[in-house]
Amino acid sequence: MTLRQRIRSTRFVLTLWYSIILLAAFILFGAGVYVYLRHVEEAGLEQNLVEEIDWISRLVDLERSRIDVWTLSDLSNDVGQRIVAHYNVNPRNYDVVLAFVNGTILYRSPSGRSFLVSGTILPPDRTLLQSVTSPDREVYRVALRRTDPFIIQVAYSETATETVLGHLLSIFGVLMPVVLFVAFAGGWIMAGMVLRPIGQITRLADRISAKNLSERIPQRDVPDELGQLITTINRMIARLESSFSQIREFSLSVAHELRTPLTILKGESELALARALTREETERLVTTYLEETVRMSRIVDDLLTLAKADAGQIKIQKEAVELSRLLRDIHEDAVILSSDKPLNVELRRNDQVTVLGDEARLRQLFRVLLSNAVQYTDPGGSVSISSRRAGGEVHIDIEDTGIGIPQDALDKVFQRFYRVDEARTRVKGGSGLGLSIAQWIANAHSGSVSVRSAVGKGSCFTVTLPVRDG
Ligand code: ADP
Repeated sequence: MTLRQRIRSTRFVLTLWYSIILLAAFILFGAGVYVYLRHVEEAGLEQNLVEEIDWISRLVDLERSRIDVWTLSDLSNDVGQRIVAHYNVNPRNYDVVLAFVNGTILYRSPSGRSFLVSGTILPPDRTLLQSVTSPDREVYRVALRRTDPFIIQVAYSETATETVLGHLLSIFGVLMPVVLFVAFAGGWIMAGMVLRPIGQITRLADRISAKNLSERIPQRDVPDELGQLITTINRMIARLESSFSQIREFSLSVAHELRTPLTILKGESELALARALTREETERLVTTYLEETVRMSRIVDDLLTLAKADAGQIKIQKEAVELSRLLRDIHEDAVILSSDKPLNVELRRNDQVTVLGDEARLRQLFRVLLSNAVQYTDPGGSVSISSRRAGGEVHIDIEDTGIGIPQDALDKVFQRFYRVDEARTRVKGGSGLGLSIAQWIANAHSGSVSVRSAVGKGSCFTVTLPVRDG
């Protein structure tokens, strides 16, 4: 397999999609974790800042009463001591600044970063939260509150949070190629496992040709999709096998049918060449030539009709056909057909019915049945035609009192080249294709042909066609 083929193979495409989907899931998961952690951290920090501001607010409430009594440095010392004591108990690295609204600083924690803004833009007793970047590029989360006459600031560096989140990103970054590799390798192995039986099926199917259509792909024990595929392919091979054997039989039959007249023609020609012929002999010879040629062209015509019908090349022109008139014509034809044989040919019942169809083809269908009836009925017998309407259908019976058909041959008479009595019918000139053509015509008109018969008593062929109403 070339690289190009490999890249286009189902295995590669499956693996690729699998890896892409897994990677996308991993990225989504990573992004989710990152966003969630950042949110939790930020919310936690903000809550802490607000709690600190609340605490300092409560502290300065006490100082408010001392503003007029104490000096600024006493106030500053007192506040400073309380705040320092507080952070001794809860050591956190907050940047706390306490100032008067006019900007005079009362207390500043040792790290001492001030992000104070003018007291006038702060709404009283509300906490303002914002992120501020210090001159040394560190980001701080700053909480400010104005609680007259003071402004309180509590700030905390976000660097620690950023560092943790940065580490998380690095871990994801390192894990991503690993995940991608594992997904691709795992996907490749899994796709290979799943597709292996398909490879076996392909190789076996490749081996099967017209010569070994009896071979089958071994069934899998598991009734999964591949098992179903194998069953379907095996069924298809069985159908092909049956079609091939039908074609083979058909070709043999065609060769067999044409060989007899050709042998006769060859024998007669050799005889004619062997010696000078009298006038009568020449006449007899030419008559034989003509008969055999007519027989061969009939076979070829019938074969051509069936071959075209099989290929769907024959268009059935559907128009309204008055069946009663058609049957009257057919009856007259049958009378002429049986003129060299004393037969009683009658039209018994003829319901007024119109069908939708191709008149020429329907005529051909009834001619086949009538010429068979005449052909297989001995002199003195009778042939009858009758049509009766039943609901949306019309049944046309072509009945004779002829030799009949044995029960075991009834379902075979519609097969191509089948004859009940080979020797007898061949002498009578039948090709064995008439009933196949009759059945095809009936089917093409959404109808059917069926037969009832008893040996020595006669046969009845029934054509059923849909009626055209209105
Ligand atoms: P064929 O040209 O030999 O008549 P068909 O396909 O028309 O071919 O008929 C097939 C075979 O069915 C005939 O060879 C004959 O043995 C039998 N068959 C058909 N019609 C009748 C009938 N009315 N009575 C007895 N046998 C019949």
